[in-house]
Amino acid sequence: MQTIKVKDKSFSLFIPEEKILAAVKRIAEQINKDYEGKEPVFLAVLNGSFIFASDLMKEVNIPCEISFVKLASYQGVSTTGQIREVIGLNVDLTGRPVIIVEDIVDTGLTMAHMLEVMEKQNPASIDICTLLLKPGKLQVNLDIKYCCMEIPNDFIVGYGLDYDGYGRNTRDIYTLVKS
Ligand code: 5GP
Repeated sequence: MQTIKVKDKSFSLFIPEEKILAAVKRIAEQINKDYEGKEPVFLAVLNGSFIFASDLMKEVNIPCEISFVKLASYQGVSTTGQIREVIGLNVDLTGRPVIIVEDIVDTGLTMAHMLEVMEKQNPASIDICTLLLKPGKLQVNLDIKYCCMEIPNDFIVGYGLDYDGYGRNTRDIYTLVKS
């Protein structure tokens, strides 16, 4: 099995690129159908979602806008629980259908906070679109309409997701090798 080293940790191949891209395409097709004639605003949450958002948008073929926001709450390999503010929101969401694009939903606290902030902007609707979900870690009740893949509770890197800032630049997704 293919293994990579990111800083001081080893990660083994978990989800190959072909499988990721097939899942992303399937979700984009659903969005194309559900949002036909609605002109949604995609709000991608940086940094982790940058590759996912890019691949997703290549498969979305309805008129839409995309914007990027940042909200960091995660350091190292465990959730800090500390929530920071949303920065970079420069689109008027009033009356618009919004799709939040996230790399991974773990405890769900980040997404719950994001929803709270977005709802204050009076959008017509908000849907969540995540590449990955760890159902075993979810601590809040979230209605996740679009989820490409569900994964176990392990720490993963690659395809935009980092370990301590590194490891985002791989095509495949890797999981932490427990020592
Ligand atoms: P939550 O608030 O749902 O617990 O955490 C969400 C954020 O934590 C994600 O946007 C992501 O940045 C980070 N995160 C959660 N699980 C993982 C993981 O397995 N790997 C990496 N690299 N980041 C993760």
